[in-house]
Amino acid sequence: MPELPEVENTKISLLPLKDNKIIDVYTSNKKLRQDIPTNLSEIINTTVIDIQRKAKYLLFHLSNQKTIISHLGMSGRFWYSNNTEIAKHDHIILYFANNYNLKYNDPRRFGVFLLDDTNKVESKYFFHVGVDAISDEFTAQYLLDKIKKISSNIKNTLLNQEIVAGIGNIYASEALFSAKISPLRPANSLDIKEAEDLVLALKEILHKSIILGGSTLKDYRKANGESGDFQKHFLAYGQDNKPCSHDGCDGVIEKITQNGRSTFYCQKSQK
Ligand SMILES: [Zn+2]
Repeated sequence: MPELPEVENTKISLLPLKDNKIIDVYTSNKKLRQDIPTNLSEIINTTVIDIQRKAKYLLFHLSNQKTIISHLGMSGRFWYSNNTEIAKHDHIILYFANNYNLKYNDPRRFGVFLLDDTNKVESKYFFHVGVDAISDEFTAQYLLDKIKKISSNIKNTLLNQEIVAGIGNIYASEALFSAKISPLRPANSLDIKEAEDLVLALKEILHKSIILGGSTLKDYRKANGESGDFQKHFLAYGQDNKPCSHDGCDGVIEKITQNGRSTFYCQKSQK
């Protein structure tokens, strides 16, 4: 599932859409996580004025004060090209005046593609979302305040978008490994030093992954078709049975299941 670096890279690869005029729209009429809006014809003859990432969502702000709200779900991807062939699982296609088109392809159809008034987007869709994981507002003190009453494990807590937005299964495992914090620890047991280490590790890992184009496991591609490279730098995620890379540690990375999701960690160096 795409996390912050993958969505950020998708956004960057979609920036060539800016200032382009939409001249036609195609939909497969298949249901995504919700129905594809029936009023998509409203966006014909509008211009994409900005593309924004909000948590793991992409927002396409249009010149008619409407915004497309999109989430890639489990397997969604955008593809911006001049290829006019309609492939299996292409559910939405926006055709632009420059002869390019933007396809939204999603085999598993857990993605989101909605249209709403730009001035309603924040209060309607994001009122409950925590600060962005790579923003200056995400500090150790912010994290401590948010988790001080949470006794469930820190790994699962990091996935809660109401606490911090953008982190998923991969980067939670990687950051806890880097900060040497056990994923099994109750969230409210972290002290300020550990919160500082964890916030720093998260930001470093997310920034590094953004620079490397995100992580491509199965489906993720940028909108120009390129894969990400960060999966080659995983130290914990998917590294089960491999030796721990912490200095002086002779432990082995283990795979466990927490709240139905895989977690990868070293029992010896993550306390
Ligand atoms: Zn270790």
